[in-house]
Amino acid sequence: MYTYKVGLVNVGENLPLDIQDLADKLNSIQSTFHFEEAGVITAQVLGNPDVYDEWYDIPNILQLLSERIDAKSLNLVVGITESKITNKVELSGKPEIDYFSMSDFNKFSILSVNSRVLKFISQYKDIKRYVAHLMMGELLVNLAKENLSHLGQVPCALNECEDRITLDECIKNGQICSICIAKLKEKNVGNFVIESVMEILSWCRRNTWSDSFQNIFRHPIPSLGFGIGFGWFSTMFITKEYYPIPLAFTIIPAIFVFVRTRLGKIN
Ligand SMILES: [Zn+2]
Repeated sequence: MYTYKVGLVNVGENLPLDIQDLADKLNSIQSTFHFEEAGVITAQVLGNPDVYDEWYDIPNILQLLSERIDAKSLNLVVGITESKITNKVELSGKPEIDYFSMSDFNKFSILSVNSRVLKFISQYKDIKRYVAHLMMGELLVNLAKENLSHLGQVPCALNECEDRITLDECIKNGQICSICIAKLKEKNVGNFVIESVMEILSWCRRNTWSDSFQNIFRHPIPSLGFGIGFGWFSTMFITKEYYPIPLAFTIIPAIFVFVRTRLGKIN
């Protein structure tokens, strides 16, 4: 049973990812949050960038989300934009003014998938994992109703990543640090919420290619195909007395699938 409905909003109409696809993936991983598409802020409504004609000021976007999106039935709203975002009041003296994401510590969040911030994630992570990781931090601070994010090098979903390079380390680590866990509990964020967030973070932690590999072994036909293909391919390089090795590679996936299928039926 879902406890929190999270609306995902396309802000600016120019997203390099499919929001429904992301929602389906996140809904399949856990059952505390129900993610769904919650509308579009059109490029026309978004207007021109209001900071140095290049960035959008985050408080203004959050305001726009609260005015334009029908959020009555939603517990939380996350806007995703391809535009550059920043926080005007905190600009002075900062070498890096592009923000990954930010919340109003109540209900609304915005996160950017602009290439200037995406460049900080490794080639083994896709945009969906990047978005999901950032979103977890924002959902938690909104549920806690307080800015719990922190500085420093400790890999944590609530690390602000002021040093932008830290983000990749945080995604790879897929954790919430013990101090943040304690603070979340203090703010009455339930264990079931933290557990569901951890499930999403651990999916973000996995490399993109691991999904395809897992899919191979989840379905009998590709699995068998993979085994036969690998077995056949390897016979080209070895002599007859070593044929049992490729044969094993051919048979093992078939056994694996058989056992999995049987176990699946028992469960
Ligand atoms: Zn932390």
